[in-house]
Amino acid sequence: MPKTPARFNLPELMYKLLLTRRFSEIPCSHLDQIEIREPSVRVCQECVDLGDTWPSLRMCLTCGYVGCCDTSKNKHMDIHIKETGHPLIRSIEPNEGWIWCYPDDAFISANSEQLDESMPVVEK
Ligand SMILES: [Zn+2]
Ligand SMILES: [Zn+2]
Ligand SMILES: [Zn+2]
Repeated sequence: MPKTPARFNLPELMYKLLLTRRFSEIPCSHLDQIEIREPSVRVCQECVDLGDTWPSLRMCLTCGYVGCCDTSKNKHMDIHIKETGHPLIRSIEPNEGWIWCYPDDAFISANSEQLDESMPVVEK
């Protein structure tokens, strides 16, 4: 019986990702507006005040605001972005450092060539 040709490219893509840690990136014009790179807190204070918990945390790279992500029921980071118009957030989950740009809908990995210095990855 002839072997079915492998049409599935996903493992190759995963392998490439692991090797290069690069995603296909959309250029972002806001990366020179980064003011704050590292979080001063590791909680969503607004959720703490409400007695709620959150799945993961994001930080605003303009003002340093830390809030819960879009999959949280309270979506505090989303509210912050809508209220302030700040463009960039990063993940502050352990071992993550990617950036998301709202106006450009752009994902920028922590070691992107678009960044002048790479984003410090938050240690566990
Ligand atoms: Zn941008
Ligand atoms: Zn929250
Ligand atoms: Zn902000």
